[in-house]
Amino acid sequence: MLKLKLPYPPTINHYWRHVGQRVLISKKGREYRADVSGYLHRKGVQPLEGPLSVDIELHMPDRRRRDIDNVLKAMLDALQWGGAFLDDNQIVRLAIEKIVAEKKAPPKRRTKAEIAAGVQRTADKPKGQAIVWIAEVDVERHAHANRICLQCHQSFESKGPTHRICRDCKHKQSKMPPSVVEAGSGKRRNGVPM
Ligand SMILES: [Zn+2]
Repeated sequence: MLKLKLPYPPTINHYWRHVGQRVLISKKGREYRADVSGYLHRKGVQPLEGPLSVDIELHMPDRRRRDIDNVLKAMLDALQWGGAFLDDNQIVRLAIEKIVAEKKAPPKRRTKAEIAAGVQRTADKPKGQAIVWIAEVDVERHAHANRICLQCHQSFESKGPTHRICRDCKHKQSKMPPSVVEAGSGKRRNGVPM
């Protein structure tokens, strides 16, 4: 598993540039890619192989409204280019969570003693960052993952891609009055009720 702390990625509009028919990576995009690649190199990261699961915590640089989807492509492209994996088509699961910056507290005043001691106030300029976990997954054996329940739309620990109803909803279903159960989930064979 890899845990990476990346700078806040440029949006898709700032990463690529369309020049006539061609699509080029912008200066901002190249800088970001170089940052990510340098960081991976310093960490001695070797490209992960096989199916991967990627979890991203996206820490907003400030409280401006932002979409999280339009930074994904740049981030994944930079990770591939920097050698975190061979190809982003290896990714079989992808989760991204937006972490909104806390409202900034007013700067603390230094005490007289601190001023006398020459303590400087740290200028904490918000920068934003993306924390990325990349894990190799054995798709066959580790189908377990959080998925959205098709009934209550809550995230639950699912046993595989076809397990889409959470335990609570299953339980509720089984407790429904018999008439409802019969009407809703009567067994069928070749489409014909049995
Ligand atoms: Zn449910």
